[in-house]
Amino acid sequence: MAVVYKRVALIGLGLIASSMFWAIKRGGLAGTVTGYARSAETRDTARQIGLCDQVCDTINDAVQDADLVVLCVPVGAMGAVAAQIAPYLKDGATVSDVGSVKRDVIEQVGPHLPASVAFIPAHPLAGTEHSGPTSGFAELFDNRWCLLVPADGTPAPAIAALRTLWEGIGCNVEEMDADHHDLVLAVTSHAPHLIAYTMVGVADDLRRVTDSEVIKYSAAGFRDFTRIAASDPTMWRDVFLTNKDATLEILGRFTEELFALQRAIRTGDGDHLHAYFTRTRAIRRGIIEAGQDTDAPDFGRAKLKP
Ligand code: NAP
Repeated sequence: MAVVYKRVALIGLGLIASSMFWAIKRGGLAGTVTGYARSAETRDTARQIGLCDQVCDTINDAVQDADLVVLCVPVGAMGAVAAQIAPYLKDGATVSDVGSVKRDVIEQVGPHLPASVAFIPAHPLAGTEHSGPTSGFAELFDNRWCLLVPADGTPAPAIAALRTLWEGIGCNVEEMDADHHDLVLAVTSHAPHLIAYTMVGVADDLRRVTDSEVIKYSAAGFRDFTRIAASDPTMWRDVFLTNKDATLEILGRFTEELFALQRAIRTGDGDHLHAYFTRTRAIRRGIIEAGQDTDAPDFGRAKLKP
């Protein structure tokens, strides 16, 4: 594959940035990749494991001369990081991010950036419950979606280059409006995470009553919830604080449906339950047919992480 950007800067060196780096190297997509993280500990770890061609001790060293700068920090930190890098950006550079929420990031980052750079927010729909510089792997994004959210008037060649990079990293790329993105992700990711956090919290309360039975007899459904509920607390706190409206909208609908199912159980309405579960089973089949998961009993996860 050909080099897409001569110099890429990754700001924040956690799961997403480290996976991007390994995938960029696998594909030969950049001449040089610089990296920066706020803590000396993360920078030292990155150097030890060969994460980035050059790990910089200051954020300005990392971004100056970069053709592409990708912000890979929690959503709530994007604005502050954009303010730090703005004076050092090269004219004609592209700034992007990987945040899980898009409208809030656009509002935080956009005002800090000079008119001479293109800002193209992005969100790769791939992750694990692990975080930090050692958690990344090149295959994380293979056959996953990456959504680009460019503003009107963004130069087409800048969008095309970022698309080529993400395709080289392994993603299928689509463009989407920011508000639509936030609503879709509230349904597919944010509300499910909150439900998993709640379910694990409830089970933890129960464990106090039944000793360790919840863990001992933990069935696959609950184990999947615990995996999701082990996700990074900072990242998920920021997701809910910044995608507030869409998440509350979906949780409202969820609560209504839950009440309807609760009533069906109480009144013995088996037809309602059966019809509901038949509809949801068809959705699962659709996801498998779309190639977004496998029908392996472990949801194919064993294949995702080497
Ligand atoms: P991560 O592994 O926890 O790494 C976060 C990085 O951001 C670390 O290098 C950390 O620096 C830095 N950081 C944390 N707080 C900061 C602050 N206040 N100011 C400056 N830097 C800060 O996180 P991640 O999973 O890679 O997530 C990064 C972004 O990707 C988030 O916006 C998230 O919404 C998005 N995303 C995540 C997933 C997922 O499943 N994990 C999927 C798609 C998108 P130190 O190490 O020095 O503390």
